[in-house]
Amino acid sequence: MRDPQQDLDDLTAAGLRRELRTLSGPQRPQIQLGDEALLNFSSNDYLGLANEEALKITFQKAVAKHGVGAGSSRLISGTMTAHMILEETIATLKNAPAALTFSSGYAAATGSIPAIVGKDDYIILDKLCHASLIDGSRLSGATMRVFPHNDLQKLSDHLHWADRKKTPDSRVLVITESVFSMDGDLAPLREICGLTQRHGALLLVDEAHAFGIIGPRGRGLAAQLGMEQQIDFQMGTFSKAVGLTGGYLCAGRAWIDLLLNRARSFIYSTAPAPALAETITASLNLIAGERGDDLRSKLRENINILDPQANSAIIPVVIGANEAALAASQKLRENGFLVPAIRYPTVPRGTARLRITLSAPHREEDITALQDQLVLLKRNIDS
Ligand SMILES: *Cc1c(COP(=O)(O)O)cnc(C)c1O
Repeated sequence: MRDPQQDLDDLTAAGLRRELRTLSGPQRPQIQLGDEALLNFSSNDYLGLANEEALKITFQKAVAKHGVGAGSSRLISGTMTAHMILEETIATLKNAPAALTFSSGYAAATGSIPAIVGKDDYIILDKLCHASLIDGSRLSGATMRVFPHNDLQKLSDHLHWADRKKTPDSRVLVITESVFSMDGDLAPLREICGLTQRHGALLLVDEAHAFGIIGPRGRGLAAQLGMEQQIDFQMGTFSKAVGLTGGYLCAGRAWIDLLLNRARSFIYSTAPAPALAETITASLNLIAGERGDDLRSKLRENINILDPQANSAIIPVVIGANEAALAASQKLRENGFLVPAIRYPTVPRGTARLRITLSAPHREEDITALQDQLVLLKRNIDS
């Protein structure tokens, strides 16, 4: 039997070894890592809500009201008013008939996809889809095809392929994100939706990095394009701009009823704490209100400092080799900036990168300081 140390040594040799970093205070732009004080450009807390005063108070009050745990899975006795209000709130914001919430976005994907499709069905997904969508697809047992990132011609070819293979009962499910997690670019949703409709296929869009940030009242890219009602499954997370933790899937009533009968990550897992559900609802209301608008315009100002062309708060600096990306990340850290190196399998081989994420509470001087560092880095890479 192989020793686990051997696997670890292999990872280290390939520049793929990962380790935990422990923060000694809350998630925010200025963080403390051991004895290092760093400026944090690595978080998905895009609006700074993980540490929002009003939400901290809501959470405390909710704990006093509901206790700290749900004590049971949702289908036994773990469903409380707070969960139902949260599901109504997210469905309304997404302009969808119904919603189901999960303990995380990962659980939403791995539970939902195998509940929607099975071995007689077909899944067609974008090459850069998040691991949770890939894992959910694999778990489903459906036949899978991947299309190159945002390649509509290849998507169309795969839809024709599925048309030839499918039986009258088969489902064909197309999966994409709206803002891609490691590139920050957008999917051509209108065109993708047109194609799926022409072929009678279902469409699932994961708005993990768009919700809270893009669209009217932060309701996402589908809302911005007025396309919510044409998207069969609107998925997302409460763990990024919403500032807490959890996942959701919005769909028609029958789909949601089917999901709560079939999604194993929903059925065989204890319900999230009701206080958490209540605080997520408060965060959603904040995001959809004036405070949300203020935070979004502050975020946009911050993005414009670094890259006025950027479509999202994610700004990748693709470097290529794992070692070079790690060295760049290390160099930034020595100078006081936490910018993670993202490597395979999170991104394709040969595209290791720095992934910079901006947030509303970042200060202008911190962003310009990072910019200066990036200029120096690029000069070193080029020379
Ligand atoms: C982060 C992420 C998820 C997982 O959400 P969690 O709530 O963190 O589990 C799913 N999809 C995409 C695209 C993500 O970026």
